[in-house]
Amino acid sequence: MPSKLLDALLLAMPLPPVLETWRQHLKNQLPYPVQGAQTLFIGDPTLVIVVFQHDKVEVLLPAIQWRHHDIHTAKPTSQGVITAHNGTLEQLLALVENTIALRLKSFHECSCCGTRSAPETLGSLQGEPVCRHCIKGRRVLF
Ligand SMILES: [Zn+2]
Repeated sequence: MPSKLLDALLLAMPLPPVLETWRQHLKNQLPYPVQGAQTLFIGDPTLVIVVFQHDKVEVLLPAIQWRHHDIHTAKPTSQGVITAHNGTLEQLLALVENTIALRLKSFHECSCCGTRSAPETLGSLQGEPVCRHCIKGRRVLF
């Protein structure tokens, strides 16, 4: 499977300097915890996913769906691609910020304490969203 081999080789290659600069900027300048290397997971819970490839950067909105109790699957949706040739760090940051704003809009308020939490971290109490902290110790099915 030549294309998979090529993908593997490209992934193993260091990023071009401009993309490495952008990556370092995201890792060091954003007011959120960042995990990952070539794919950055920004925020806890993840607010935005930034995938660095050999000549471009893709920004993804995490959209996590409940499957069963604690098991959820991530189905991120692409918000845009910035190429190393035509793109700028400003464009990338704008895309990242817009995606974070979109993600925060999907957060819900806990009906007990009022904290806004990611939908995948909220449980339900008599039909109202309740955060993990408030639901702890209660015998409630998610
Ligand atoms: Zn709460």
